[in-house]
Amino acid sequence: MLMDLKKFFLSDDFSDTVEYDLDLSQLDVSGVKPFPKPVKVRAVFQSFAGSVVLEAHLHYQMVMPCDRCCGLTTREEIVRFSHVLVRELQEEEDDAYLLVSEERLDLDELLSEDILLNMPSKFLCSESCRGLCPHCGTNLNKEQCSCGQETIDPRLEVLKGLLAEEES
Ligand SMILES: [Zn+2]
Ligand SMILES: [Zn+2]
Repeated sequence: MLMDLKKFFLSDDFSDTVEYDLDLSQLDVSGVKPFPKPVKVRAVFQSFAGSVVLEAHLHYQMVMPCDRCCGLTTREEIVRFSHVLVRELQEEEDDAYLLVSEERLDLDELLSEDILLNMPSKFLCSESCRGLCPHCGTNLNKEQCSCGQETIDPRLEVLKGLLAEEES
């Protein structure tokens, strides 16, 4: 959604709320599309001393494979992002303010960035996820494989070899 902010910048006391569904179903995050359902957006714009304060309330589902067991897991997110939109920056680099050129804001783009920055670097189905067996790929949350039982301490393996040599 493209927002024209002219009336906010011109007035000292103007506010408006937009509500809409943001479709991010095609957004690709390292080969996964984590947002199959539309993101519910409620964005409140309020003019404030020559700038515009944006407060966005987002409600969405994030579907990601677990880093350990690869199982798809859905997480419900209710988050709030705020930005102060300005027409010009006093300082060259000031993260507190967002420069909008020609008093227009691509709200979809901004919120998509917010959502991506808010994504966890690690995604687990549960803190206690046991992951997949590195040998046979069994999901250890669901069943136990027999790989672990056959593993012998490598030092014992050497000893066994020595004993076998002595016997022969
Ligand atoms: Zn898992
Ligand atoms: Zn196994």
